[in-house]
Amino acid sequence: MPRVGLQILWRARERGEALSGVMELVFLGTGTSVGVPAIGCGCAVCRSEDPRNKRRRCSIWIRVGDFSLVVDTGADFRAQCLDAGIERVDAVLISHAHCDHIMGFDDLRRPTARLAGRLPVYALPETLDVLRRCFSHAFDPNPPMPGYLSAMGVEIGGVFAVGPLEVTPVPVKHGHVATIGFVFRAAGMEPVAYVSDVKEITPDGMAALEGVGCLILDGLRDRPHPTHLTVADALEVSAALGNPPTWLTHFSCELDHAEMEMRLPPHVRPAYDNLKLHFPEN
Ligand SMILES: [Zn+2]
Ligand SMILES: [Zn+2]
Ligand SMILES: [Zn+2]
Repeated sequence: MPRVGLQILWRARERGEALSGVMELVFLGTGTSVGVPAIGCGCAVCRSEDPRNKRRRCSIWIRVGDFSLVVDTGADFRAQCLDAGIERVDAVLISHAHCDHIMGFDDLRRPTARLAGRLPVYALPETLDVLRRCFSHAFDPNPPMPGYLSAMGVEIGGVFAVGPLEVTPVPVKHGHVATIGFVFRAAGMEPVAYVSDVKEITPDGMAALEGVGCLILDGLRDRPHPTHLTVADALEVSAALGNPPTWLTHFSCELDHAEMEMRLPPHVRPAYDNLKLHFPEN
C-alpha cells in the first residue's frame, strides 16, 4: 500500500503523462564531483551519446505549490537553473561543504533577487563556517553592493520546518567532512529521503530514514570507494529500509545508465539529470 503511489508514478511517467502532486522534485544533477563526461577521460560512458550519461554535479530542486527550494549548489548551478527554468529560490539546504556541492552558491544571486529578506541557508554549523569563509560577501550584515547575494545561515540541529515542508536531517559518514542527508515531509505525501554523499549511515541516520516512501541515495560506482556507497552498498541500505522505491545518484563515469537500468532490481532505478518526480496525494 505505501509503495503504490510511486509505482503508479513510474508507469505514468513512462507514458509521458503530466501528474499533479503535492511535491515536485527535479534532479538538477546526478554526477560525481568531476561531472560526467570527466575532463580528459575517453571512456565509453564519457563518449556516450545517451543524454542520461551526461551528469552535472549533484543537486535537486523541490517545489511545493509556489515554494521553491534547492539542495546544494555545485559549480553547474547556473546552467542547471537555466535548463530547469528556476526563476526563484526561497530557501537552500546544503548537505556538506565539498566543492561539488557549494561552488555555485553565488549563482543563487539571481533567483533570490526578488526575495523580501535574506535567503535562509540551512546547513550544519561546520558547513556554514565554510560558506561564510568562501562567500563572505553573501553573509555580510551590510551588503557591499545592491544586487549581491544576501544570505542568512540557519544551523541545523534537529528537525526543522522550511516553507510547507518538515525536514529531518540524516546524519551520515562521508570522509572527514560533516555531512547530512534530508527527509522531506509534506501534508498528503509519504516521506522522501535525499542522501547523495555517504559512505555509512549512522544508526541515528537509519532511524531518521525509517518509513520513507522514496529513497534517493548515493550509488557512486561498483568499485569500493573510501567515502561513497557502491551500487551494491546502496541496495543493502534500501533492503535494510524495507526496499522502498529507490533512485540512485552521484554516479561516476564507471556506470552506464542503460546498463544499470537492465541489471538493477525493479524497485531501484538510476536517476538522471532533469528527471522529475511528482509525489501525489495518497
Ligand atoms: Zn558530492
Ligand atoms: Zn569516463
Ligand atoms: Zn561529498
